[in-house]
Amino acid sequence: MQDIKSEYLHPEFETLDREQIEALQVKRLQDTVRHCMNSEFYKTKFNELGISPEDIKSTADIRKLPFTTKQDLRDTYPFGMASVPLEKCVRLHSSSGTTGNPTVILHTQKDIDEWANAVARCLWMVGLRPSDVFQNSSGYGMFTGGLGFQYGAERLGMLTVPAAAGNTLRQIKFIKDFGTTAIHAVPSYVTRIKEVMDQQGVDPRKDTKLKVLAIGAEPHSEEQRKRIEEMLGVKAYNSFGMSEMCGPGVAFECKEQNGLHFWEDYYIVEIVDPETLEPVPDGEIGELVLTTINREAMPLIRYRTRDLTRVLGRTCPCGRNHIRLDRMKGRSDDMMVLRGVNIFPIQIEKILMQFKELLTNYLITLTTDNDNDNMTVEVEVDDLYANDNLHLQQLTKEIIRQLKDEILLTPIVKLVARGTLPQTDGKAVRVNDLRKVYS
Ligand code: AMP
Ligand code: ZN
Repeated sequence: MQDIKSEYLHPEFETLDREQIEALQVKRLQDTVRHCMNSEFYKTKFNELGISPEDIKSTADIRKLPFTTKQDLRDTYPFGMASVPLEKCVRLHSSSGTTGNPTVILHTQKDIDEWANAVARCLWMVGLRPSDVFQNSSGYGMFTGGLGFQYGAERLGMLTVPAAAGNTLRQIKFIKDFGTTAIHAVPSYVTRIKEVMDQQGVDPRKDTKLKVLAIGAEPHSEEQRKRIEEMLGVKAYNSFGMSEMCGPGVAFECKEQNGLHFWEDYYIVEIVDPETLEPVPDGEIGELVLTTINREAMPLIRYRTRDLTRVLGRTCPCGRNHIRLDRMKGRSDDMMVLRGVNIFPIQIEKILMQFKELLTNYLITLTTDNDNDNMTVEVEVDDLYANDNLHLQQLTKEIIRQLKDEILLTPIVKLVARGTLPQTDGKAVRVNDLRKVYS
């Protein structure tokens, strides 16, 4: 039985020093390369490159191995990358196939167990214990945020409420009736819950026992996190994951809230220049590349995530030496190129969230007018200020000024009434690109 006073759920892994982490990674990477020889895909690739497990003598030797891309997953759909016979697998998750084949990730029972352990470790790290009540307000089914958090929260021993996303009135009833102390949801849905609480006259500080939120699955700014914390009177921790790496539990913030700890007993982390694929120095932004070193059904070698981030450090006052990365700047595919300028939605969010008059729901629309690309930013305004036209005019000017400083272009800014912009229960859609495509 775990000592509930311990800061660590898995001290034997969480408190390893850098040398010990490196040694464990080398061992697990060798095993992974050996195991990957059971996958037709990797066997062919390794044979072509003349690679054998003995070539891995340090983590730096990972650079001898080939990259894996989302296209590889699509090309081998559905089971072409499995490293175990199908009868050893107990579950699969699949991403939507809006463009071409979907991707499939297979899991053995051991994979599911390790995944639950990783999620439980994250939740323990932010102070949750078996006495907590955990409400999972994210989609279930193929989306890994549902079952991933469900199994992890149960593994920790919490009473777990599989509320799923949507039906916000019922969510609030559950929060009150079951004494929910922790919620997992995408950040945009958390703000929706708060909005409905306001309409219902529910004060989260007085009428609920909420104390911890796990927010993730979509990029969000530090400013949005602070908003959420103030709104609900909770601590909100950034949770990072992706289906290809299992789902949630890949990385999480500790109580220091100083970046995402990636679990290096599960993954080898690289940050590379997306063009040259060479490593970038610590502190510089590049593409996150992950290698699974603890997976059975479908290990992935040097998987190009397309997420952009940077290394913040490898030590932390919390006592964990697992690498810390900055919150995701976005995916390389989220980048908008407008009149030659590269812009990420998160840059716009960061500015908007600083104004107390603005709510958290916003939409960026890109259009082509007279052969020029234009950006319109619509953002909802708090009812308190909705009728003060003079103030709203000045506010609009100030927002435009600050956005121009940040993105070097002058967008059109429209302040709109609460509830005007579309909302989803899942990942928020922040950009509506209506530009003409020239061929
Ligand atoms: P999925 O496989 O559908 O769960 O999507 C995974 C993707 O969601 C990642 O590759 C990221 O682009 C994004 N994502 C997940 N968690 C976060 C987070 N905490 N911050 C920013 N982006 C995230
Ligand atoms: Zn830490």
